[in-house]
Amino acid sequence: MAAEAHRQQGSCPTIPSEGCGKSPEKKGSAADSRPGTAMSGEMDKPLISRRLVDSDGSLAEVPKEAPKVGILGSGDFARSLATRLVGSGFSVVVGSRNPKRTAGLFPSLAQVTFQEEAVSSPEVIFVAVFREHYSSLCSLADQLAGKILVDVSNPTEKEHLQHRQSNAEYLASLFPACTVVKAFNVISAWALQAGPRDGNRQVLICSDQPEAKRTISEMARAMGFTPLDMGSLASAREVEAIPLRLLPSWKVPTLLALGLFVCFYTYNFIRDVLQPYIRKDENKFYKMPLSVVNTTLPCVAYVLLSLVYLPGVLAAALQLRRGTKYQRFPDWLDHWLQHRKQIGLLSFFFAMLHALYSFCLPLRRSHRYDLVNLAVKQVLANKSRLWAEEEVWRMEIYLSLGVLALGMLSLLAVTSLPSIANSLNWKEFSFVQSTLGFVALILSTMHTLTYGWTRAFEENHYKFYLPPTFTLTLLLPCVIILAKGLFLLPCLNRRLTKIRRGWEKDGAVKFMLPGDHTQGEKTSHV
Ligand code: NAP
Repeated sequence: MAAEAHRQQGSCPTIPSEGCGKSPEKKGSAADSRPGTAMSGEMDKPLISRRLVDSDGSLAEVPKEAPKVGILGSGDFARSLATRLVGSGFSVVVGSRNPKRTAGLFPSLAQVTFQEEAVSSPEVIFVAVFREHYSSLCSLADQLAGKILVDVSNPTEKEHLQHRQSNAEYLASLFPACTVVKAFNVISAWALQAGPRDGNRQVLICSDQPEAKRTISEMARAMGFTPLDMGSLASAREVEAIPLRLLPSWKVPTLLALGLFVCFYTYNFIRDVLQPYIRKDENKFYKMPLSVVNTTLPCVAYVLLSLVYLPGVLAAALQLRRGTKYQRFPDWLDHWLQHRKQIGLLSFFFAMLHALYSFCLPLRRSHRYDLVNLAVKQVLANKSRLWAEEEVWRMEIYLSLGVLALGMLSLLAVTSLPSIANSLNWKEFSFVQSTLGFVALILSTMHTLTYGWTRAFEENHYKFYLPPTFTLTLLLPCVIILAKGLFLLPCLNRRLTKIRRGWEKDGAVKFMLPGDHTQGEKTSHV
């Protein structure tokens, strides 16, 4: 009946400003005095509700009846939610099947009672129980009618695949006389307890009733969170899938990096460990944990960095060939372009590891033995001074270029953080990521070349006929640098610039660049 009346009015129950059970007129006008309505500064979200603070900022008298909120369930989430709600000035009543057992776990200001009693007065009730137990709440259907039920549940991956209907829609089907709102499922119990300043701040909200959505949004704001409207309850399935995701945009780049690592590690293992063992009977297996890893890391970092810039080159080549930018790139290229940030960050990660491993190289016992053996050899050979001028210079330049490349990569990594990226305008961001990124690729190439020096041309460095690893890693970056150089040629550069500004080879849209008189006779059909 209550639901029927509520539907006829075409509005949802709201949290009354002076507690529950007030007259309908007060209920209707309560929206403006709800907690958090006047909260504007996101950083100043109250742990103490504004209801407890006077307009002059001084502490007001605690209102006799704070807005009442019900919670069904007494588990981890219910406890954290109750703590946050109490801290935000709400009056909380928790409904448990066994209140005596659980009451001690809740803040003293929260009332813990039986389910029937807990749902009788609040207009908003959080359902903090798992989906499989929703049906056990059916006995409360009459008391819940006309109220807002907030579904906070998250399905497991298996449940998500198993049920076509979201948990929230299922709850709505069990309680047709209630208004179901999906919210707070993306906030963990820990984040609720720790407070929004130390965790995810966004609360995704969806419901078929805009008024109910507004009520819960205001509650979320009053609790210090940022509500995000996700539309109707049909979006609940999508909202419920969010906590199931595990870094989706990192999957492919991570697999790519791991794949490269395995390939290069195997290649280096064959060259540095297996070949000496088979050919010279030398046991170099001790190199596996550190030395071979350290030879592998820069290869992965370098190839990954090239893979950040290769799709841009391919896209430019495609645009040049098609003579337009208004055609979609193939899906694989589109995905590749979208994953450049993750690939770049992984490249930085591997480069950092390479730097750390390199610092550890002199700490190895094998290194000390090698040094001592070399010294003894020198003494026996009666050579007083070991100094190879070319080697000294090569090493100095090689290390310096490596540090510069790593510094540049750090800059790229830092500017890809959203908080830093947001402080840059588009031109600045593009300069750092594109121009300085390309400089990092050139520095890495020079670092690799000074590392390899003449080894690529020395026969004894071809083990099992396998070329030194650095020669393999150089292939891709050299192609990219060459292609970038080609695109700088005036004929190609001019055409690419025109295409990127909307010019089309055979299309209708043709723009003229300043000073481009050859295009003067071409017509614009725009
Ligand atoms: P939990 O600790 O296992 O608590 C579940 C509660 O459900 C129990 O304490 C129980 O309270 C109540 N319940 C009601 N009817 C029940 C029945 N028939 N059988 C068993 N229990 C029943 O789980 P939780 O971690 O608090 O999670 C509760 C809901 O919040 C779930 O839907 C979950 O997906 C969602 N959630 C949790 C988190 C989190 O970080 N934990 C984050 C987001 C969303 P009484 O025994 O007092 O009745």
